[in-house]
Amino acid sequence: MKAFFFDKMFETVVLSDTVFSVPSRYQKLAPLGVGAQGMVCSAYDTVTQQNVAIKKLSRPFQNVIHAKRAYREFKLMKLVHHKNIIALLNAFTPQASLEEFQDVYLVMELMDANLCQVITTELDHERLSYLLYQILCGIKHLHSAGIIHRDLKPSNIVVKSDCTLKILDFGLARTAGTSFMMSPYVVTRYYRAPEVILGMSYKENVDMWSVGCIMAEMIRGEVLFPGSDHVNQWNKIIELLGTPSLDFMMRLKPTVRNYVENLTYFEGSPFHELFPDEFFPSGSTDNDRLRADQARDLLSKMLVIDPEKRISVDGALMHPYIREWCEEGEVNAPAPDPYDDSVDEREHTVEQWKELIYQELKEYEVNHHIE
Ligand code: AMP
Repeated sequence: MKAFFFDKMFETVVLSDTVFSVPSRYQKLAPLGVGAQGMVCSAYDTVTQQNVAIKKLSRPFQNVIHAKRAYREFKLMKLVHHKNIIALLNAFTPQASLEEFQDVYLVMELMDANLCQVITTELDHERLSYLLYQILCGIKHLHSAGIIHRDLKPSNIVVKSDCTLKILDFGLARTAGTSFMMSPYVVTRYYRAPEVILGMSYKENVDMWSVGCIMAEMIRGEVLFPGSDHVNQWNKIIELLGTPSLDFMMRLKPTVRNYVENLTYFEGSPFHELFPDEFFPSGSTDNDRLRADQARDLLSKMLVIDPEKRISVDGALMHPYIREWCEEGEVNAPAPDPYDDSVDEREHTVEQWKELIYQELKEYEVNHHIE
C-alpha cells in the first residue's frame, strides 16, 4: 500500500540561508522569526485557505537534548487544545523513510507578533489586563495537564492585533538541565524564578514569577532583571526586591545557601517606587488611578522571591485587576489527557529519539489525512 505521504509534492524554498521543503499546498513562504530550535515562516495554506506559521526544527537530531525537546514539543502540541496555547494544524517531514529522516516541520496557527514587539508599545489597562488574563488561562490549562512551564518569556508568547494571545511552547522538561545547551542560540533567563535559578524544588506558582516579570516589563518598557548569567540574575533580583528571609535561605541546598547568604544584604525597594504612577497609562480618572493601584498590588504579589508567599495562578485570576475577564470556559477548560512526563526522564540515544519522532509523525499523518 502506498502511504499518502509519498503522494505529497514537496517544494523547496531557501529563506535567509534556511532550506524549507514543504508540501506544495503551502505557498508564499516568508521568514517570521528564529527561536532556539530553528526558523519559523509564515505561509498561505491553499487547502484550508488560511495563513499559517511553519516551524522547521533545525537539525533536531544533532544531539540528545535537541532530539528530546523536539519529541516533547511535538507530543505536547498534539495533546493540548486550548485557545491560549498555540494549536498544531499539521506536521510533516519531506523525507520518505526513517533512514533518510532529517527534518521535522510543525504547522501552526499564524499570529501577528510576539510579546517582545508589544512591550515596546504603550498599553492601556484594558489591553494589559486582558493579555495577562490570557497568559494565566493558558498556564492554568498547562498545569491541569501536569505541565509546569518554568520558562515563560515574551518571545514565546504571540498575539494578534485583536489582543488575543497564545503561548508558543511548553517550557522546560522536568529533568531538563537549565544551564548548558550546546547551541549558538543565547538562552534568555531573565524570566526564570528564584526556584529555577537556585535549583530548588518548585510547584505551579513558579510560573507566576515569570508572569510578574513579563507584566513588569510591559509597564516599564524594559526587562526587569536583565542578568547576564544566573549569579548576576540573582543579584539583580535581590537589589530590587531585597534579600529574602532566613526561612527561605534554610530551604536552599547547603552549597547554594552558603553562597547566597554571603552576598551583600539588600533592603529592596517598595513597589510604588519600583512602579511609580508615571509608568502606568496616563489616565486622570479615579478609575485609572484605581487600576494602577490594582496593577501594582498584583505585581507585588507575583514578584515574591519566596514561592511559599507568592500568589497562585487561581489567586491571580481572582485578583481585582484580572477577574473581570474571567469566563468559566476559558479559566476551567476541560483538562487534556495527563502528560506522561516519564518521557522527560527517559534516556535514549539520538537514533532512538529519531525513530520515536518518526513514529509520532507517521501516526499524526495517518490521523490527519489532509491533502
Ligand atoms: P520559536 O522557535 O517557537 O521560539 O519562535 C521564534 C519566533 O517566531 C517567535 O518569537 C515569534 O516571533 C515567531 N513565531 C513563532 N510561531 C509563531 C506563530 N505561530 N505566529 C506568529 N509568529 C510566530
